Amino acid sequence: MTNFRALHRAAIISTGTEILQGLYADTNARYLAEQLSGLGMDVVLTAAAPDEAEELETLLRHAAARADLIICSGGLGPTEDDVNRDVFAKVFGVELVRDEKAVAMMRQRFESRGRTMPERNEVQALIPKGAQTFYNEWGTAPGFFLPPEAPRLAPGHCALMALPGPPKELAPMFEKDGLTVLGERAGGGKLFVRTRTVHTFGVAESELGTLTRDLFRRDPAVKYTILAKTYGVDFRITARATTREEMNARIAAFEAETRSRVGEKCIYGADTTTMPEAVAALLLEKKATVAAAESCTGGLVSKMLTDISGSSAYLRESYVVYANEAKERILGVKAETLATHGAVSEETAREMADGVRRVSGADFGISVTGIAGPTGGTDDKPVGLTFVGLSSAHKTIAMRHVFLADREQNRNLAALTALNLLRRELLGG
Ligand code: ATP
Ligand code: MG
Repeated sequence: MTNFRALHRAAIISTGTEILQGLYADTNARYLAEQLSGLGMDVVLTAAAPDEAEELETLLRHAAARADLIICSGGLGPTEDDVNRDVFAKVFGVELVRDEKAVAMMRQRFESRGRTMPERNEVQALIPKGAQTFYNEWGTAPGFFLPPEAPRLAPGHCALMALPGPPKELAPMFEKDGLTVLGERAGGGKLFVRTRTVHTFGVAESELGTLTRDLFRRDPAVKYTILAKTYGVDFRITARATTREEMNARIAAFEAETRSRVGEKCIYGADTTTMPEAVAALLLEKKATVAAAESCTGGLVSKMLTDISGSSAYLRESYVVYANEAKERILGVKAETLATHGAVSEETAREMADGVRRVSGADFGISVTGIAGPTGGTDDKPVGLTFVGLSSAHKTIAMRHVFLADREQNRNLAALTALNLLRRELLGG
């Protein structure tokens, strides 16, 4: 371990012609720059290259002369425009070898979706000789770390880390494997670094910030940040320490403090846990069943619940009910309720939840009714107005929300809000 070459200067290279055409922002570079700075490394260059071998080669050679680590994102796909691995082999003077475990993981991923992996995808498992493979649990293409000590056919010993382009794959892979290898080398000392993400839903970022204000600068070895996402707000706790135990203790202390400040009920999970997974786990734990009545979300609540394998253990049945007549006939919503309060109302949401619980025999009925937009809003009932309902043997409740996003996001928010209502109920109201 002590023979490791330390890494001080980093270059971040993003690849993809679309970045240079302005089609999406290079958020990977910003993310990686923040992470590397947190490790005490100097980021000396960030740049983007198109999916063209010659351009990428020129840029890599330039970066390798200035930095002792290059982190390169994107271009690891199976298609012709994914040129990166061949360029890496040339510039770094390494042979590519097939990683059988990576092939097996990719094949398994396709098969779990009922598909056969195209032969073409196998090129994604070609990894430079002497590199450590970063297996991809979040997508297809594996990444890798080529250490400075790895034997090369070309001069130089710049280290290379390659990560997939999609941010949802890049970030967890970097936090799982990237941080581990860099922790041992960054800044010249052996360092353990880990990020823990705590997910909240239903509370505004500003409120969460107020509750945790003094944690942001409490410990110089802990980077504590709050990040509002489209659906919910995350706390990110990144701790550094010279031993693994100390690092884990720092994370645990900040996580416990966060949970007690914010309240367990606002937190649905950590790291890779999703809202539907959190709800499913609670339903299984309590051996409880649920049924959903959905207007506005068109079945999204049920889709989210059934994205998880084994969902028939807790989801009994669901109804997508748009016409008033369907709400009356299937769920027993009263004609008078619909006439007096309208389909998008607290009263209707309550009767939908009660109705679906009754017809299904489930322990819980949940309902959604709302106006997803962009059309259909009125002065009284604006676009985004949504009611989510919950019915149990003990009570029936409905909550009013106004979501201010576009149709797709409003619908996702409505579905997640309904699941969150059920989650809170399962935790004890
Ligand atoms: P795939 O196997 O999905 O093709 P890849 O590793 O080849 O992955 P790219 O094809 O370069 O990656 O990018 C895939 C998608 O990931 C892009 O369409 C874009 O949405 C996102 N992406 C790629 N690079 C970046 C970046 N630097 N910043 C933000 N998003 C990115
Ligand atoms: Mg690609």
